Amino acid sequence: MERLIKKREPISLTKKSIQNLIAYKPNTLPYRIKLDANESNQFLFNEDLKINTSRINMYPDNYATDLRNAISHYIGESADHIIAGNGSSEMIELLFKTYVDKNDVVFSFDPSFSMYGVYSQIYNAELVRIKANTDFSVNIDDLIEQLERYTPKLIFICTPNNPTGTVVNKVDIKKLLDKTDAIVVVDEAYMEFFDESESMVSEIKQYSNLVVLRTLSKAFGLAAIRVGYMVASAELIEIAYRVKSPYNINTLSQLVAIEALNQTEKVKQHVNDIIVRRNHLYRQMKELGITVYPSHGNFLFFKYECDQLYKGLINKGIIIRKFSGELNNHYRVTVGNAYETKLFIQCVEEILNDET
Ligand code: PMP
Repeated sequence: MERLIKKREPISLTKKSIQNLIAYKPNTLPYRIKLDANESNQFLFNEDLKINTSRINMYPDNYATDLRNAISHYIGESADHIIAGNGSSEMIELLFKTYVDKNDVVFSFDPSFSMYGVYSQIYNAELVRIKANTDFSVNIDDLIEQLERYTPKLIFICTPNNPTGTVVNKVDIKKLLDKTDAIVVVDEAYMEFFDESESMVSEIKQYSNLVVLRTLSKAFGLAAIRVGYMVASAELIEIAYRVKSPYNINTLSQLVAIEALNQTEKVKQHVNDIIVRRNHLYRQMKELGITVYPSHGNFLFFKYECDQLYKGLINKGIIIRKFSGELNNHYRVTVGNAYETKLFIQCVEEILNDET
């Protein structure tokens, strides 16, 4: 007897949550200088980093023990409180994997780092965005007020904030921690450009629901090796280890990161130079009549009503970050080296002069 084969809908090859997801597309335009991703064009460390390649036939150290010891020395917190990752991006995803169930709520201020939204979508969570003020500063009370209504699982506080450069001070973050059991993730990717005494790393032992994220991609100028880390209570670290992918950081990256962490005086000098250039560039842009916001990162966020400036810069081989949607007409420029910063401001001046 012939079996009746029931016709059914073809199986969707993606899960529902990502059907409308837009891929993260880094800029691929040709350029003379690249000021769109808060990287550093300078290699800060000894050219001949002493990398021992004799171990690359084996899997990497799953616990990145030597690297975590070097990070521990740098941040002044014990290695037991640190997990190292393939960029702090991996740590952000690890937090979603570890804590977020379907339909859970995640909080962040708006605007903030776009990947909190991307991972919320992938992991079927609802991202509740707490609006910044019109000058892009934020009030912790606005966020605290929403706690009862939504009971979030994760709360992201990015300070200094990407893309606006504003900060949330330690007193306010502690106020939030005193009011919630949610995991409060303080993303300090740019903290070196602000004030280390404002870092929440020193509070890890006081708050069992606090996670701090850091990276070597920004102040260390090592975006290519993809090394970031999270610092948290021993309890949270133990849980995160259950979820972390095995051998997540390759051996070469671990070795480069360890060498770099042994040369932090070069990082301090580099950071100081960037801060001086950032403040100078801020004044120059203001003098040109551009609405530019004070920033504590290695970048400046600004508003310009038409896209002539952006297009003009592309024509001159300078790429910066353009925002859309509610942030239409807003841009972010990385504070580069002396040559890049000078060329950027020269080109801006030329474009504005041509417009008038
Ligand atoms: N957090 C913030 C606020 C960022 O701006 C970035 C990179 N742009 C990251 C995390 C991720 O950095 P990485 O994965 O290179 O450590």
